Amino acid sequence: MRLRFWGTRGSIPAPGPDTVRFGGNSTCVQLELGGRQVIIDAGSGIRPLGRALLGRMHEVVLLITHLHPDHLLGFPFFAPIFDPRMTIRVGGWPNGLLGLRRLFYSGRPVGGFPVPFDLLPATIVRDPALAPPRFRLGEYMVRTAPLSHPQGSIGYRFDGPEGCLVFITDNELPPQGLPSHLVDFCRGANVLIHDCQYLPQEMGPFRGRGHSDWPSALALALAAGVGRLIFTHHDPERSDLQVQQMVDQARAHAPKLAVDAAAEGMVLEL
Ligand SMILES: [Zn+2]
Ligand SMILES: [Zn+2]
Repeated sequence: MRLRFWGTRGSIPAPGPDTVRFGGNSTCVQLELGGRQVIIDAGSGIRPLGRALLGRMHEVVLLITHLHPDHLLGFPFFAPIFDPRMTIRVGGWPNGLLGLRRLFYSGRPVGGFPVPFDLLPATIVRDPALAPPRFRLGEYMVRTAPLSHPQGSIGYRFDGPEGCLVFITDNELPPQGLPSHLVDFCRGANVLIHDCQYLPQEMGPFRGRGHSDWPSALALALAAGVGRLIFTHHDPERSDLQVQQMVDQARAHAPKLAVDAAAEGMVLEL
């Protein structure tokens, strides 16, 4: 199992000199499961991923967490959609394909952009086998969990011969008392990647927006006994220095746990 981050930013892409290290592209993760290429979310990070994949393979699985724009907006710029040899099987969030299709509707009968979805050369289909709450991808079992987020979102757990990886973005953990279904969902994972958009001092006014701070993500990691915790969905206002400070604080609170922040280009091997 090999994972590479192509987009780590939350809410909206945030390029600039202050986000070079951890990245400015919005959520997109590439997973290699056995011989399969699996992508989670189509944020702006899927654009450079598409360039890397183009011509190298003819089938990918695209798993969607939910339909907020930061998780979809890169899809019209995913080069494989213009490759007639390409098949993209969309799964996960039940209306994932519908959300992607809507990106191609301009409301105008003429004009070259966006290209109408039905004219895209690639085969892009909803795969009903890739549906919550669990499905198989070869020798990997994939499970999903409902998350706490406006309009909903789902997390993914991948169990395979090399171990277990959990990916949870766009999830608000409560200030007290962790949801037991999420502790069970994450239990014993080698790696937990979790939303960490906010600092604890920011949570007051942002409570209810569907994102977590580092102490709650850390508490979940410790309660579930995971091997490694990686923060993601960095706030668009968070500079590289501030992300690193957050990681340093979390490490100081849990010196025995490996804690990092997701960065574009970062690769995890299980
Ligand atoms: Zn988001
Ligand atoms: Zn969201």
